[in-house]
Amino acid sequence: MKTIAEPKNFIYNMTLERLQDWLLEQQEPTFRAAQIFDWLYVKRINNFDEMTNLPKTLREKLSKHFEFVTLDEITKLESKDGTVKFLFGLHDGHAIETVLMKHNYGNSVCVTTQVGCRIGCTFCASTLGGLKRNLNAGEIVAQVVQAQKMLDPSGERVSSIVIMGSGEPFENYDATMDFLRIMIHEKGLHIGQRHITVSTSGIVPSMYKFTDENTQINLAISIHAPNDKLRSKLMPVNRRFPFADVIAACKHYIEKTGRRITFEYALIGGVNDQPEHAEELAQVLEGMLCHVNLIPVNYVPERNYVRTPREDIFEFQRILQRHNVNTTIRREQGHDIAAACGQLRAKHMESNAR
Ligand code: SF4
Repeated sequence: MKTIAEPKNFIYNMTLERLQDWLLEQQEPTFRAAQIFDWLYVKRINNFDEMTNLPKTLREKLSKHFEFVTLDEITKLESKDGTVKFLFGLHDGHAIETVLMKHNYGNSVCVTTQVGCRIGCTFCASTLGGLKRNLNAGEIVAQVVQAQKMLDPSGERVSSIVIMGSGEPFENYDATMDFLRIMIHEKGLHIGQRHITVSTSGIVPSMYKFTDENTQINLAISIHAPNDKLRSKLMPVNRRFPFADVIAACKHYIEKTGRRITFEYALIGGVNDQPEHAEELAQVLEGMLCHVNLIPVNYVPERNYVRTPREDIFEFQRILQRHNVNTTIRREQGHDIAAACGQLRAKHMESNAR
């Protein structure tokens, strides 16, 4: 018997190649797959009956085998700078966050890959209730489609994607890769590979696997500390995959792909933001084809972390730059709508528990 939490056969789960295989099984011509992709991702309809260039019999088969992901918009917060934070409800009652950001170079969507997260980074609200379940590829795809639909009236498009929302994408590897295949396909939304970034907390075996995929997609590592001791305190995952192994996997990625890697470093006041931390990090990264993104940490009330003073952020950056390590300080977006990653959902869970 089908349970409520059982993944449904969502049409958005289907890569173009898998759709072709399904069509073959159904004794239908494979060129229909591109037509279906066009309806899904170019015309962005959400009803098989509207696919008017398909024969009625095929539309009936599609309705019988597949359904659309419905993301119920529980909350939508719009910032003065154009950032929109969504809290979406899923079919099984879970809620996830998605963020649409407006940059001067285009619109970017930050997607979630898991309901909650089990990685346990101490500065992150997404992990407070642990991992509930993996999202399937279709549920990740639907977040981008929904954001794109919001842009449609103004004729704008989603031009980049960051996989940096709740969850560890490399612990939901297959769904994440299917999602990426659907996003970059020229018959679909056709997002440029170089405009997509996958961010991981350093799941070393998946980093090697991702390197072998040989894509143009960017890889970012949440590093957040310059050594094992501090990193294990901030990110328990470091006990599973120690600092040196993560750095070795990064070097392998750079060597194999020739691509630059990004390190995300959340600065937490008085914890990992001192000049000696910057020096130690610079020693590790000097000479590597990399870029460091410094992120002044958002206040997470549950953890009692304070922000690094502005001057200290600049000093941290100066030290890295002195060692020729490329560094930027992440521009904050959507600050007036508060809610660091995971906090909208945390609030929602709290009020549901009352
Ligand atoms: S920062 Fe990312 S990997 Fe770490 S707990 Fe939060 S969602 Fe999970």
